[in-house]
Amino acid sequence: MKVMVAVKRVADANVKVGVKSDNTGVDLSNVKMSMNPFDEIAVEEAVRLREAGIATEVIAVSCGVAQCQETLRTALAIGADRAILVESNEDLQPLAVAKLLKALHDKEEPQLVILGKQAIDDDCNQTGQMLAALAGLPQATFASKVSIAGGSATVEREVDGGSEALLLNLPAVVTTDLRLNEPRYVTLPNIMKAKKKPLEIVKPEALGVDVTPRLRTLKVSEPPKRSAGVKVPDAKALVEKLKTEAKAL
Ligand code: AMP
Repeated sequence: MKVMVAVKRVADANVKVGVKSDNTGVDLSNVKMSMNPFDEIAVEEAVRLREAGIATEVIAVSCGVAQCQETLRTALAIGADRAILVESNEDLQPLAVAKLLKALHDKEEPQLVILGKQAIDDDCNQTGQMLAALAGLPQATFASKVSIAGGSATVEREVDGGSEALLLNLPAVVTTDLRLNEPRYVTLPNIMKAKKKPLEIVKPEALGVDVTPRLRTLKVSEPPKRSAGVKVPDAKALVEKLKTEAKAL
């Protein structure tokens, strides 16, 4: 069984980004870029399925600029077998990415597509759901456990007040939550091996997909600055302060 994994190149989770002076977006110049953390979990899960003898091949896919090849090399170093970059300099919004993934799904026919539940740059939480709708596939989002047996997947998801188990017929789409697994550290020998693994580059036009953005960002602004806190000498003063502040509300 083939597994396809979508990986997005985003600003590194540990970097504090700022807004461009003209408020058109986030300033990414000289910012360290990494794989979206939820996608690392997706690659890890796919590689574990292959190591368990359930998956036969893991294909990592990224859509975006040429530098996404670095992100794909990381996926190959974690253990993916080959990679595909859909190269475009366009601002790729979730619908465009879902259409590109659908085109690749039609071509590669994987039994399972794993995506992150959301990209930490746009926080959209849309691509997996859109892909499932476009491809007519069952979907389980926010997976915290995935088991595959007999042509179906059992997916556990954390919901308010407990957990839910879903049974899906394969092929299917799954999106990852934080608790699904802990991705392995990438070792130097695996980084070296990843350099030799196949990485194919295709253009959206070759897949017959129009990636023109459908949404226009009007303005991006910094969150309001928090005002400085006040120090109180002891617990009694804190209680008094809370009482007077509450009255003032
Ligand atoms: P989003 O809907 O933008 O929050 O993204 C959800 C998930 O879709 C991500 O965690 C990725 O797995 C996948 N995804 C989104 N954009 C891309 C992209 N440009 N290339 C590859 N995968 C993507």
